[in-house]
Amino acid sequence: MHEKELVESAIATLRRLCDGPLARVEIALGPGVDTHEAELAWKTVTDGTDLGDAHITWERAYDRLVCDAAGHEYTGEAMEACPYCGADGVVIEPAPPIAVVRWEKAA
Ligand SMILES: [Zn+2]
Repeated sequence: MHEKELVESAIATLRRLCDGPLARVEIALGPGVDTHEAELAWKTVTDGTDLGDAHITWERAYDRLVCDAAGHEYTGEAMEACPYCGADGVVIEPAPPIAVVRWEKAA
């Protein structure tokens, strides 16, 4: 995956939402995006900027699926079986590769 490009796009989104230093940021990563790679990319891109000191929490974003058998909707990794009936599911709404969940300005 292109963790650096994803991190740069998340930062561009953040900068549209707010200016100045941030205390903490929560970021959700979609399936297939490596958390460690994203963390390294974040450090590289924000080093020396006013985002460099923000505390980052990395979360996992999941796909939205619907099962073949009964139409149950659930969230999970792609190909994950339905938690209600065990049938195979198809992805109806893929998780975004990266999303800013919430952020908090530095005091
Ligand atoms: Zn089901």
